[in-house]
Amino acid sequence: MSSTVELDDRGVIVACGSCGKKNRLAYERLGEAVQCGQCKQPLQAPGEPIEVHRSADFDRIVAKSSVPVLVDYWAPWCGPCRMVAPEVKKVAARQAGQALVVKVNTDELSDVGQRFGIRSIPTLAVFGGGKEIARESGARPAEAIEQLIARARVASQAR
Ligand SMILES: [Zn+2]
Repeated sequence: MSSTVELDDRGVIVACGSCGKKNRLAYERLGEAVQCGQCKQPLQAPGEPIEVHRSADFDRIVAKSSVPVLVDYWAPWCGPCRMVAPEVKKVAARQAGQALVVKVNTDELSDVGQRFGIRSIPTLAVFGGGKEIARESGARPAEAIEQLIARARVASQAR
């Protein structure tokens, strides 16, 4: 299934499940309930990993998102990345509205990988309040990935 979720400079674009109209969920308001601008039905928060294709988009998401951002650093040639991908997908579905899940292909966005010192893939990192607050390398099940998000949530609240 191809992704119905897109990004622009201000937020995540999702198609309304009722009327199909595209709506923008501003990065700053990702945790809030939002209605479709056209039919007023509640919009579903993004429940799938979003592939980031521009490093400027990546920077905006981690700087502005009102919910924790899980980043899956991966590359197409990486076997363990393919193993962790379905787990990351599960996390995105279960954490819809509570966390945003993005994928960074470190071949495509090598500058992001370099800036954050990603030395091995898969690497999973969680950002909150504009800062990276948790990181683990290697494949792991969805439950362990969610623990990473929970840890980051506690750390960002303690600050
Ligand atoms: Zn609608």
